[in-house]
Amino acid sequence: MKQYVVEKPGIRKSVEEELKRKKVCAPVKQENSANFSAIHSFEEIVWGPPQTVIPPKKYFLPTSENILSFRKRDGGFEVEALNAAEEIVLFGVHPCDLNAIYLTDRIFAEKNQDENYLAKREKAVLIGVDCLTPCSPEAVCLRMDGLNPGDRFDLFLTDIGDVYFVEAASRKGEEFLRGEGRPASEIDHRKLSSVRKQRDELFDQEEKKLLPDYNDLPGLMKRNYVHAVWEEHGEKCYGCGSCNMVCPTCYCFDVEDYMRVDLENGFRKRFWDGCMLEDFAKVASGENFREERFDRLRHRTNRKLNYLFDKWGQSFCTGCGRCIKACLTHIVSPLEIANEIFQRQSV
Ligand code: SF4
Ligand code: SF4
Repeated sequence: MKQYVVEKPGIRKSVEEELKRKKVCAPVKQENSANFSAIHSFEEIVWGPPQTVIPPKKYFLPTSENILSFRKRDGGFEVEALNAAEEIVLFGVHPCDLNAIYLTDRIFAEKNQDENYLAKREKAVLIGVDCLTPCSPEAVCLRMDGLNPGDRFDLFLTDIGDVYFVEAASRKGEEFLRGEGRPASEIDHRKLSSVRKQRDELFDQEEKKLLPDYNDLPGLMKRNYVHAVWEEHGEKCYGCGSCNMVCPTCYCFDVEDYMRVDLENGFRKRFWDGCMLEDFAKVASGENFREERFDRLRHRTNRKLNYLFDKWGQSFCTGCGRCIKACLTHIVSPLEIANEIFQRQSV
């Protein structure tokens, strides 16, 4: 990975150059919050807090998307795959979301590769920004291994005072810089270490603690598949699915076919779905495998902390805090559920 130091006006210049050529999306202010949106000027970018309500997964897995069209032909159907992938720069992505994109990349590239997702990822440039203060009181990214993005970006900026320390993990990242900056020196590395040390201390003070050992989260979940916590939290759940919709690592979708009124042409649409919704596990016979809300909450939590953790070696909660903020009854935090189970099994 190459490392540079770039003057702050240099980053502005790179964004402005990119705006002449491509769609650039970044967090922008939206009422009292922020959301990723196409920008037209550098000034629109929200750096740091607040966290966007919806994570950047919407650019790779849109909330709804036509994935194929079909029409009747010669007694059968002619089918055409649809994919509205476009070149895009995603600027200002926080580390928890970079980690989440890395995890969903692995899901969509596994076995039956999802062409629609992968084509959109291929055309995207990810420019991450280091969080030097927690972006919300709900964030638990330090605890859930979401604060350090490793090399899961094209370019990553850390504010080290008058300049940015810039890590480039790909050719796309290098191209975005357009030669701005100079190779980082020993002094710049020392400044970076000191900024990140201060960052970690601050996050450690401000974020809720994770009581069980991070690496034992799958074990804790397995040992407590039957536990009163699930019923107690589950009975307060509205089954609204907000926690799924705002989560950067929730990637489930449903598909439906639509026939046009001519009964000759139609299309297939996919759209976000979520395991906390009542119909998610309902099958054609009418059977529902997770009819009870506590069962759905247990399933969601196990997906994050157990099943996918076991399979991919990392928590599928990156600690962004969005579901914790979105849940009106404050019952869904994977970290708090793990803490509660851990405390109650220890007494
Ligand atoms: S489970 Fe909640 S805190 Fe964890 S990544 Fe998803 S939305 Fe963020
Ligand atoms: S846990 Fe909270 S956000 Fe999720 S479905 Fe239940 S009430 Fe809605």
